[in-house]
Amino acid sequence: MLRRVVQEVLQGLFDSVADQGSTTAGRIQERIEASGLRLDDRRLQITMARLAEMGDGPIDGQTFGRIVCDEALMLKRAFNSQLVIPEWQDFCADIHAIYKSVAPDRSGANADYIPILRDADSEPWGVAVCSVDGQRLAIGDVDIYHSIQSVSKPLTYAYSLATEGVGFTHQFVGVEPSGRPFNSLELLPDQRPYNPCVNAGAIIVAGIVASATPGLNSRQITQKLMDLWSDLCGGLGDVRFSEETMLSERETADTNFAIAYLLRGRMGLPRGVDLHLMMDVYLSCCSIEMTARMFSVAAATLANGGVCPISGVQVLDTEVVKRTLSVMQAAGMYDNAGSFTIEIGLPAKSGVAGAVMVVVPNLMGIATFSPRLDAYGNSVRGVGFCRELVDRFTFHMYDSLSGGRSGCKRDPRESQTNRKKRDLSDLRWGAQCGDRTALLVRERMLNSMLAITLADGEIEDPEIEAMACIYTELMGAPLDRDELRRLAGSMVAQVAAADPVDVLLRQLRCDRPLLDDNARELILESAFRVACSDGEIEPQEDRLLRSLAEALGIGAGVLDLEIDRFRRCSPTRLA
Ligand code: GLU
Repeated sequence: MLRRVVQEVLQGLFDSVADQGSTTAGRIQERIEASGLRLDDRRLQITMARLAEMGDGPIDGQTFGRIVCDEALMLKRAFNSQLVIPEWQDFCADIHAIYKSVAPDRSGANADYIPILRDADSEPWGVAVCSVDGQRLAIGDVDIYHSIQSVSKPLTYAYSLATEGVGFTHQFVGVEPSGRPFNSLELLPDQRPYNPCVNAGAIIVAGIVASATPGLNSRQITQKLMDLWSDLCGGLGDVRFSEETMLSERETADTNFAIAYLLRGRMGLPRGVDLHLMMDVYLSCCSIEMTARMFSVAAATLANGGVCPISGVQVLDTEVVKRTLSVMQAAGMYDNAGSFTIEIGLPAKSGVAGAVMVVVPNLMGIATFSPRLDAYGNSVRGVGFCRELVDRFTFHMYDSLSGGRSGCKRDPRESQTNRKKRDLSDLRWGAQCGDRTALLVRERMLNSMLAITLADGEIEDPEIEAMACIYTELMGAPLDRDELRRLAGSMVAQVAAADPVDVLLRQLRCDRPLLDDNARELILESAFRVACSDGEIEPQEDRLLRSLAEALGIGAGVLDLEIDRFRRCSPTRLA
């Protein structure tokens, strides 16, 4: 029985990549990559090695079974859209669009307190994403090594929690946002630093870690932190160390030394650790070098509760990760952490070399790299990217709260097709049985379609036909052409008294509280489809779509993505 089920699953997988009873290694690999998994994923190691042995030759069903059987579950999830972001290609297209829209921003400036950062190329711009299922995307300059600087701080804290315990660690450092510059000498009333993300906190945490291993020098201790980073990245790329950064950091560390002396004077150092050793460990942690591609996997490990998505190894205990993310949420973005939390609502940590590491719990890790910083010391493009990201997706920690109205942001966890199918069948059914809300949605859909058609000129038979088809496609029910003609007539007749578009926009604003996200999205979608039906979105249609979106409370970012997607797919536009 079990054997039969296994056979059936394997057969199903084979069928989805086979043509006339055979497939090739190339086809299988293409299919894996389309799901977001990469070919160097350790969870597909055995399959990949066997495929490599096959060369370009044909693979029949039996051979396929032998090749994939050890990792069939992973493969099944990839082939059957069962990974956390089922429509990976769509999601990638959206991330590309955001990447492109942030790229032109050249405001801000490199950090200039040490030559290596001051003289670094300011232009690089990279974004890397890794989902908790190990689906990966990398765009632009994601392989440039840069010092990790303050991004080291939450992880040194996590290391201290994991090795020295919560109690001991918090004897020396608090968890309160400081509201002070990151290198301030101010301490909590009990003389502890505010939190592990300000310099005072990170210095004392480096002291805790250094004090635990008497006899080791600062490089040996830093190596332990580098090993932690490497595990967080699932071994993707070498974690490096920049001697040059370390030496410059030490030459310019007067304020940090002042903090260290203050800490020693006020509360004493953990286990009486040597102050210079503590400082060397702190500065060495800032001088570790990594890439955005690597950071994205490390962030995904945090998003995944400490289990690295691409190696499957539990690198950190989930309790440790919870604390680490909470501290990042409260203090990860320097003095802008409060605004960042309100606006973006995600735990993140930035560093002065231009890195931002963002965690979307249970979904993905994101890393950006762009060296120009804003007044707070955060990468301008990195923050810009986060802003646009939460404008389009339900990633803000409180998006789930919006009374069911998320501004029609998308949730890439849910397959669009599934969601649409489910919601539409409800509305269709409602409209058939005379449900008031469903009928209201229907009426607003028709009026929105007519308004868009009017914006583009006269309403004649071909337009009526196009609208009726779109309606039928969306609602799965026929539409009486005469009803549409009558409505069009009354809309045109209205023009003398009041602009029918204004009337419609007013109605929509007023209906808004009655309609859920899906109903509002459907109204906009019907208008959007009409605008697209002639192969091009004219400026006046674009303007009206934006007004409709605004009236319906749908974010401009959401509409931008739709328009962008349409333009990418529209051959007329590209021609
Ligand atoms: N290495 C810097 C310092 O301790 C911190 C860098 C950062 O904030 O990213 O002053």
